[in-house]
Amino acid sequence: MNDAGPAAENPAGEVPAREFPAGAMDSRLAPGLYLVATPIGNLGDITLRALDVLKRAARIACEDTRQTQKLLNHFGIATPTVSLHEHNERERAVELVEQLSNGVRIALVSDAGTPGISDPGAWLVSEAIAAGVAVIPIPGANAALSALVASGLPTDEFQFVGFLPEKAGARRTRLEVLFAEAGAAEAPRTLIFYEAPHRILLTLADIEAVWGPGQPVVAARELTKVHEEFLRGTVAEVRRSLESRERIRGEFTVLIAGRPAAQVGPNPAGASSEKVADRVARIQSETGVDEKEALKRLARELGQSKSELYRELQRERASRSKR
Ligand code: SAM
Repeated sequence: MNDAGPAAENPAGEVPAREFPAGAMDSRLAPGLYLVATPIGNLGDITLRALDVLKRAARIACEDTRQTQKLLNHFGIATPTVSLHEHNERERAVELVEQLSNGVRIALVSDAGTPGISDPGAWLVSEAIAAGVAVIPIPGANAALSALVASGLPTDEFQFVGFLPEKAGARRTRLEVLFAEAGAAEAPRTLIFYEAPHRILLTLADIEAVWGPGQPVVAARELTKVHEEFLRGTVAEVRRSLESRERIRGEFTVLIAGRPAAQVGPNPAGASSEKVADRVARIQSETGVDEKEALKRLARELGQSKSELYRELQRERASRSKR
């Protein structure tokens, strides 16, 4: 099958030199799936390559076609769009992979930022790879990395967590597990979360309860937009500062500073610092089950795998025996 759309007008796929600086992009658009990052607020953050691919692709698969159409209209791009969102990704992937296998150039975008990062795309990518289709990243805006590099927190090791669970209990459990993992990590690791404005205070309160009020955090708000703001300080300070506002607007990316080895130990709130060994021992003494069964129950309670917890148990025992 041949490509349709704008690329068909220029079958050789040559880019006129006057339109783009030399070396800014390949002279031909090879067949494949293009993962195109789009701005997270500031339209100036679209890249030359992104515009080129969006123009020359046969189709653009979009998380929300209406949202992407605004971007395409702004840049005068007439490529047809098709929806691909969390509710139809699997069915749509079948159709798109068939076209990709026939040599059609397809671009994938999300509403904002890098597709596949807390956005649809991962399933289509894995299906395309399984079908032997080339997958080509077109890098650009991403809230997590933008927040990280300007946060002032260490960037050498970090963990992207995405969105925390919405339900209070599950969110607290997830944070407790992350806290415990941070304590077991060999080097401090900055944690990065995405959060919605209506949940930011609840999430900061949970972080404060698990890590303690003195924990350094950064809340990056409205990145790349007019009201871009970085709130840096202890979690209690950042929470109070947001709490004092009449209304909390905008999109947030939250970062938690990693715990240096010297600080590893019980947290002020106590809850999450409980070692796996202590939890297992408690379950055993309360219920009379053996260690294996206690680990299984704890894994279920924490939503973690049993083998992961077992490894953590071994690590704790090894570090105790060194002391
Ligand atoms: N794929 C996107 C990326 O590459 O960053 C992320 C999509 S995710 C559905 C949207 C979340 O990213 C928002 O709820 C917010 O937590 C974060 N985010 C997106 N844009 C942001 C911005 N301009 N400033 C701060 N955080 C932002």
